[in-house]
Amino acid sequence: MKRRKIKVFVDFDGTITLEDVGEAIFRRFGNAEQVKRIIEDLLSDKISSRQCWDELCDSVNFINKYELDEFIDLLDVDPSFIQFVKFCNQNEIEMVVLSDGFDYYIDRLFNKAGLAGLKYYSNKLFVDSKGILKAEYPYFDVDSPTSANCKKNHIINHSSEDDYTIYIGDGNSDKEAAQYCDFIFAKDGLARFCSMERISFYPFNNFIDIQNKITELVNKKNLRKRHQAQLKRKSAYMAE
Ligand SMILES: [Mg+2]
Repeated sequence: MKRRKIKVFVDFDGTITLEDVGEAIFRRFGNAEQVKRIIEDLLSDKISSRQCWDELCDSVNFINKYELDEFIDLLDVDPSFIQFVKFCNQNEIEMVVLSDGFDYYIDRLFNKAGLAGLKYYSNKLFVDSKGILKAEYPYFDVDSPTSANCKKNHIINHSSEDDYTIYIGDGNSDKEAAQYCDFIFAKDGLARFCSMERISFYPFNNFIDIQNKITELVNKKNLRKRHQAQLKRKSAYMAE
């Protein structure tokens, strides 16, 4: 029997980490009130994700790189994620991390967790010699305002119709991308969005829940893809 090919796409902030690291950095180093207002504007769709990050960077007048690194080093990836990476490797499940946050802290946190080399796509963040923050968006797509790093495009580029795709996420930047996958694991904002839009999903607390459910799915005789996801992917493949 042909082995099923499973691909897993995972959000970073609030999913692999328990806290949203990007937001935490701006709350710590930016103007608290301004940061709150900018994030509210994002969540009420008044501004795009890219605009949100640009405004957040502008809200920080100066950042000390050593203090920034020290702050990031206090945070961790969820230990159940490290276990999940092993599970995926053992079962030949391909994983791609899709983050609407920044390489700066993802590299640092992955290195610390022994996960350097894990495939990921994100936006880029630099601190210049004057302590000014600058963001770049190499995977920006004007048609996808909810994520400055267009997660949907990465899913299309990394999967084919033969694959069973899984999405794992928690928030705003996952809303569009998750809809292109056959199985969705959602918590917090993404779970609320899926419920409201009547998109079927599995709730989760941590990656142990996800690992158990995937084991169950893999062993199913008839594993069915989500029809709405198939239609969305089809139209995306045809548009290419
Ligand atoms: Mg998130």
